[in-house]
Amino acid sequence: MPRILIVEDEPGIVLSLEEDLRRQGYETAVATDGDQGIALGTERQWDHILLDLMLPKVDGFDVCAALRRAGITTPIILLTARSQEAEKILGLDAGADDYMTKPFSLRELRARIRAQLRRGSGAGERVVRFGDCEVDLNRAELRRSGERVDLTAQEFRLLEVFLRNVGRVMNREQLLDAAWGPALAITDRAVDTHVFNLRKKIEPVPAEPRYLIGVRGLGYRFERGE
Ligand code: CA
Repeated sequence: MPRILIVEDEPGIVLSLEEDLRRQGYETAVATDGDQGIALGTERQWDHILLDLMLPKVDGFDVCAALRRAGITTPIILLTARSQEAEKILGLDAGADDYMTKPFSLRELRARIRAQLRRGSGAGERVVRFGDCEVDLNRAELRRSGERVDLTAQEFRLLEVFLRNVGRVMNREQLLDAAWGPALAITDRAVDTHVFNLRKKIEPVPAEPRYLIGVRGLGYRFERGE
């Protein structure tokens, strides 16, 4: 069942969206302000995010930008009450995939969600291979020599960030921001702990890392190997 996150503060719209989408066989969850949207959007895996623009605390543009910074690639449709061209462009610049101007027809929204889901399932390189590892970014799965390896959601997100930044040195703060999100208070040490755990799952010899390389005084760098 595809899972859709609705980030919207108007109860009437939330109600009709939830009712309609559930009837279509989607599983839904709701965040009613921007902070909650970022938290839920980064904590769990979604197939789709519907994001209102005018939200309490953090507006839709910033939520969208924060999710993209955090390495979340889930398709996002902006729900906007504004019709100005500039707002739409800002939204797309912030990393949204599509937008709908309120009031919109539920039928059209459903069609756009289906289109995004189709695009998502067939898009680009969604399986990354290095060494004996195979990472399926759509299913959030790691296989090693064909065997499924269990990763926590957080480990997967960190791995995803590394895969997106191959060859680039990232310091702990950047990694925290990208893999945990700016809203959460976590110490740098969490990065090291997760890197340590990831190495055990992807490295042939965890003590002599070939892929997840520590750069003294700076942070970490992911190398895909040859
Ligand atoms: Ca609103």
